[in-house]
Amino acid sequence: MAGDGERRCRRCGDGELREETETLSVELPRSAVTASVSVPVRRCAACDDVQLDASLRERFRLATCCELADAGVDTGEALRHMRKALGLRAAELARLLDLTPETISHWETGRAAPNRAAFIAVCAMVQDALDGRTTTRDRLARLASPEDYPHALAVKLR
Ligand SMILES: [Zn+2]
Repeated sequence: MAGDGERRCRRCGDGELREETETLSVELPRSAVTASVSVPVRRCAACDDVQLDASLRERFRLATCCELADAGVDTGEALRHMRKALGLRAAELARLLDLTPETISHWETGRAAPNRAAFIAVCAMVQDALDGRTTTRDRLARLASPEDYPHALAVKLR
């Protein structure tokens, strides 16, 4: 929308910003998968700097993960891409999934295939993140730090 965003180049402080599209790609070479999307960018006419909305890049990462999940690309490399997109360290993910960091490492380096249930749990966290929720991560975190069960639950119909 006109009036939104910067009108001047961040880098040279000069120059007219032109609306263009740029292709963002993620390549998973060992899995032989490349995912690409065209996104709107602003290119500076003076210095050629390309400015891309940071939230768009973030959404692209998460959307890529969901495409990998939908396409059934359950390689360790895809799992690593998803973990990174979620901003999780391997030790944190291991704790959430009740695994050892070594197991995560074996999967991510291709020494063993990821467990399907663990893979789907990571896919669910990625989908949540894309949808602006943390439901699955919150549930895993609750399971990872067990407390007594509540005895009365107030159920909300949504
Ligand atoms: Zn510039």
